[in-house]
Amino acid sequence: GVIWYDGRMVPWRDAQTHVLTHTLHYGMGVFEGVRAYPTERGPAIFRLADHTRRLFRSAHILGMNIPYTPDELNAAQLAAVRENGLTGAYLRPMCFFGPEGMGLRADNLQVHVIVAAWEWGAYLGAENLERGIRVKTSSYSRHHVNVTMCKAKANGNYMNSMMALHEALGCGCDEALLLDTEGYVAEGSGENFFMVYDGVIYTPELTSALDGITRRTIMTLAEEVGIPVREKRITRDEVYVADEAFFTGTAAEVTPIRELDGRSIGNGGRGPVTERLQGLYFDVVQGRHPK
Ligand code: PLP
Repeated sequence: GVIWYDGRMVPWRDAQTHVLTHTLHYGMGVFEGVRAYPTERGPAIFRLADHTRRLFRSAHILGMNIPYTPDELNAAQLAAVRENGLTGAYLRPMCFFGPEGMGLRADNLQVHVIVAAWEWGAYLGAENLERGIRVKTSSYSRHHVNVTMCKAKANGNYMNSMMALHEALGCGCDEALLLDTEGYVAEGSGENFFMVYDGVIYTPELTSALDGITRRTIMTLAEEVGIPVREKRITRDEVYVADEAFFTGTAAEVTPIRELDGRSIGNGGRGPVTERLQGLYFDVVQGRHPK
């Protein structure tokens, strides 16, 4: 396959960078996770413009100047799908500071951009889309970087997410639920959180969670079919007694949560509201939505 690298397509194995790459040392960079789905009219990248807009906003927050226009990076993503002959794909645009200098100063460094695309199935397991996953509340919280910078999908923001995920995996769970610094539910390690209670869908406000593109899609779809959606602070015990819970994300799509901290949620499997939204989501991404 090929990877778009600073404006040209290079063979997968040649898409390399030096060990003194600044972002490798200090972790400041921005990225996106994007998916293309097969549709009747060929592969279509879901919400491409929204992902590219978020990439530029993330870079703006970090003071990083991406040396391409949004149109150029949209074209790069389309080309990465096309030139790799993919019908369905996960795309990873990423911007990083190069190896042109060390020390924390980065304004004098070059910003490099890659777009990779490959086939990637269900992030949290195909069978779990139906069965649901087991989740552990993390001892790691969304620390201040994430609280103040959760608008940025930035490399350095993922240390806590990774610590939380590894902790959950070590306890035999599939994913972590991170709380904010006040103890309210924030999000998964790479997913937004939703729960259903008495016919209403609840999701945390965006004070300590990424402004997920899948989150917005699900909120819109729910409202379209008449299920009320509210943003509110959610406590851990509210999740324990919820009727249903699920995670959303470009990678995780809509993944039901069947258990939190050893307590089964609702019927202990995928709930009816989750299943309905999952169906609507897959219809939309595959171009089968009436709109
Ligand atoms: N929260 C975090 C921390 C993420 O990394 C992601 C990843 O993409 C999400 C939420 C979900 O966002 P989206 O639906 O835009 O993929």
